[in-house]
Amino acid sequence: MTKKIYVTRKIPSAGIELLQANGFEVDVSPKDGVLNKAELISALSAKEYDAVLCLLTDKIDKEVFEALPSAKIFANYAVGFNNIDLEVAKEKGITITNTPGVLTDTVAEHTFALIIALSTRTVEADKFTRDGKYNGWAPLMFLGTDLKGKTLGILGAGRIGSRVAYHAKNGFDMNIIYNDPKPNDYFDKELSAKYLSTTEDVLKEADFVSIHVPLLESTKHLINKERLSLMKKSAYIVNTSRGPVIDETALVEALKNGTISGAGLDVFENEPTLAPGLSELQNVVLTPHIASATVETRSKMSEMAAQNIVDFLEGREPRNKVLN
Ligand code: NAD
Repeated sequence: MTKKIYVTRKIPSAGIELLQANGFEVDVSPKDGVLNKAELISALSAKEYDAVLCLLTDKIDKEVFEALPSAKIFANYAVGFNNIDLEVAKEKGITITNTPGVLTDTVAEHTFALIIALSTRTVEADKFTRDGKYNGWAPLMFLGTDLKGKTLGILGAGRIGSRVAYHAKNGFDMNIIYNDPKPNDYFDKELSAKYLSTTEDVLKEADFVSIHVPLLESTKHLINKERLSLMKKSAYIVNTSRGPVIDETALVEALKNGTISGAGLDVFENEPTLAPGLSELQNVVLTPHIASATVETRSKMSEMAAQNIVDFLEGREPRNKVLN
């Protein structure tokens, strides 16, 4: 019998074509937006799908798994998988896959876009210029800060953190300090980075802090009021990991009262809603969770998520298995 796949939102065509080329029947949600819980359950109950290709905006929990007992694989179109209840998936023996690696360079580049936007005050200056406020060159106008010789603190020395550190060291002559549960040879040997055993030590010493941890119980509000207060007043924080890693209310307060100098955020604690006051601040650069959004990368993610399904349904081990 033809295997059936449900895709919860329109994604780049590469993955859909790959599934179809392997003889699968593919249904893509026709909705232009995220399916709410009831819509998702209703869509998944329509047929006996064999697999689901889901997105980080889909909350995949017990009820969703139970709406479709025939699907033994949920392939997430993201490297993060905090949107999926892994405990329930484990209990039910459902395989979960993700899309690591293919988005590393793109997210690292976007992280650097935020770092440079902050150091050069590009977004503020662009708005000023467009608003017709530019009346001539001035020696004290929009003074930013150099990156060369400054210290970048990486929290989470995994794939993306490593690439950001690479750019900082080789492109901008920055010094690298980092924290991760364990030291990383690449950081120590190739980047002459300094391993610090606590988050606090990194926050105290860094001029720029860039966050690359997964969202776990242990990393929720990793950056809170107390930890923000340890940072230099001149320091900036950048988050392209997951929003809840920062207590966003505490961050707004810290940005308002000068505890730190600025922030670059691609992800938000309750996205798409922003914490009150965040968007009124001048010392922030905000992007709408687009750190992996290039034509090339989104296409590779689509293909990788689909390949995980193809491998699983054809009896092979999916390459990017997170669970089961
Ligand atoms: P990775 O697994 O390679 O790296 C994560 C690192 O964080 C690991 O080295 C891990 O040991 C470390 N870590 C875990 N807990 C920590 C803690 N408390 N303190 C310090 N380090 C800790 O993952 P990756 O591919 O580099 O991706 C990182 C995260 O980036 C993903 O989990 C995802 O949530 C996020 N992400 C966001 C976007 C986006 O569009 N903004 C795109 C891709 C990935």
